[in-house]
Amino acid sequence: MGDHFQTIVDLDAAAADAPRLAERVLGLLVTEGVVLAERTDHVFGRHLPGPHWHKAAAPHDADREPTDGLTVHTGRTVFHGGQGEAEWVRCPRCAATTRLLDDGYGLIETAWPPYETAMGRWRETGEAGVDCPGCAVTVPLPDWTWSHDFYAFGYLGFEFWNWPEFTDDFRAMVAGALGGHRTVLVWGKL
Ligand SMILES: [Zn+2]
Repeated sequence: MGDHFQTIVDLDAAAADAPRLAERVLGLLVTEGVVLAERTDHVFGRHLPGPHWHKAAAPHDADREPTDGLTVHTGRTVFHGGQGEAEWVRCPRCAATTRLLDDGYGLIETAWPPYETAMGRWRETGEAGVDCPGCAVTVPLPDWTWSHDFYAFGYLGFEFWNWPEFTDDFRAMVAGALGGHRTVLVWGKL
């Protein structure tokens, strides 16, 4: 078994707000005993699980004690699902769905380049769009929907390594501390 991660990404936080929001969520998680306030060097400077880590754990996964910690990312980040690639991407305006992988899980050469280019531009500038093949509108990169939320583009993310699957209540608690911002869960393995 490899290492797996779950990252709660704030889709609405602006770059300038991310550090303050990160502190607020971390403060809540420490107060609730979900993680420890101090960071440890031996797991890449992550916050280790606190005594009440199980508050985050889904019932079916609640006996899987987390073995690793939390990294908080602030700053412009392309969050992605680790191994593999998104199978498809969908336009939020017209719902046109573009397949990115063929049946052999190879990238479809004609479909992928506009998104790859936009990702590079977004990384550098924070602004990028892709022309939708369905409605022909240039849709901002962060607005597209990806298969199993493989990608998210934002300025704030809470990356938990080797934790049990989260409950919806835990995700709602984090979203609440973010002032009701939209969040998405990006997960995967390395
Ligand atoms: Zn469209």
